[in-house]
Amino acid sequence: MLQEIDIKIKQGYENEYRSGYPLLTQESIEDSSLLRDEGAVLNLYCFKNKFIAKAYYGLQNKGYGWLISSNIDEKIDKIFFKKKIHLALKYRASYFSDTSTTAFRVFNGEGDGLGGLSIDYYEGYYLLTWYSLGMYEYKELIVDALKESVEYKGIYQKKRFDAKGRYLDEKDDFICGQKAPESIIVKEHNVNFAIHLDDGAMVGVFLDQREVRNTIKKKYANNKNFLNTFSYTGAFSVFAALGGASKTTSVDLAKRSLLKTQEQFRINNIDLDAQEIVVEDVFLYFKYALRKNLQFDMIVLDPPSFARSKKHTFSAAKDYTNLLKETILITKKGGVIVASTNAANFGMMRFREFITKAFKELRGRFEILESYSLPNDFKVNPKFKEGNYLKVVFIKKIK
Ligand code: SAH
Repeated sequence: MLQEIDIKIKQGYENEYRSGYPLLTQESIEDSSLLRDEGAVLNLYCFKNKFIAKAYYGLQNKGYGWLISSNIDEKIDKIFFKKKIHLALKYRASYFSDTSTTAFRVFNGEGDGLGGLSIDYYEGYYLLTWYSLGMYEYKELIVDALKESVEYKGIYQKKRFDAKGRYLDEKDDFICGQKAPESIIVKEHNVNFAIHLDDGAMVGVFLDQREVRNTIKKKYANNKNFLNTFSYTGAFSVFAALGGASKTTSVDLAKRSLLKTQEQFRINNIDLDAQEIVVEDVFLYFKYALRKNLQFDMIVLDPPSFARSKKHTFSAAKDYTNLLKETILITKKGGVIVASTNAANFGMMRFREFITKAFKELRGRFEILESYSLPNDFKVNPKFKEGNYLKVVFIKKIK
């Protein structure tokens, strides 16, 4: 049985929690020495000893746990998790019935009332990601609740709760049901994706960019010379090629990206000869492109929030402006840059400032064509704006 403890919240934090703010922050807890084992249920009380909410203790880079119920009598049992899962499934009913897209997010942490857990659906397979040891303590209850709520081929998991929130390699991420073939093919707006459920931290596609990819394919790619930086498995390039791009170039540092990108092209019957895949540091590629006077009609810029390579440490918050400047220099006049970031430590306002600054420093001019944040299946808690981390801006280079 998991422990249940009463915890006092400091004066000044109560109203925010009562109004639905879901993250239990360290500074709001009166005496955090009471917290011992992750997973414990915490009954939060204000300084006047009035009940505020139930939370659980789970250390994540973001905080000490998550608020999960405002009902003092709520039992955190299988039925509790089933209720949350049912609501989440209902909210995605239109996704389940859409045969052109067979991969999407079914449960999005605090957006679905349970921070620290996400569940993704890949054509009959469910993938659970645990973001803290505290959440992982509920694995058995949650897996049982899921099994009783859906029809499934198989259930997989990823653990992301070492001290830095990194993936813990388990060698085997399989939980139950049928084992998935090494590569399963899912569809997104009728485009194929190969998904590898048991091959390390990442499965092959970032589902949150779905609408951005589709927009590139439908509205922008035709006849364009397209560059995809930080390309991973080349998802943006596949959509650009299918949208009629005259050529795509995909650049990623990781050696695995070559075979994985070829695989994505192949399963969509795209002519590999018209596509270039470059395994290289993007920063070096920019220098090469400039030297060779390469100019692109469209460039996707989608760096990780943080990255360390041999020569660079990159942080989106610090370095995005410079990265944009390098991009602007190799974009044709009238061309489009898709600037994207999933960094949660700054918002859309600051992101737009980076864009303005980059063009200003180059004495250029631009126009913003459209922008995107998370799609509907990545449900966001309106009281927790940081949860909507994705920012994508389509920028036209005028000068
Ligand atoms: N745009 C991709 C996701 C990018 S994930 C998509 O839509 O699927 C981030 C990628 O950046 C990883 O594949 C990583 O290998 C790559 N990366 C990190 N630092 C890099 C660098 N300096 N040069 C090139 N690629 C880099």
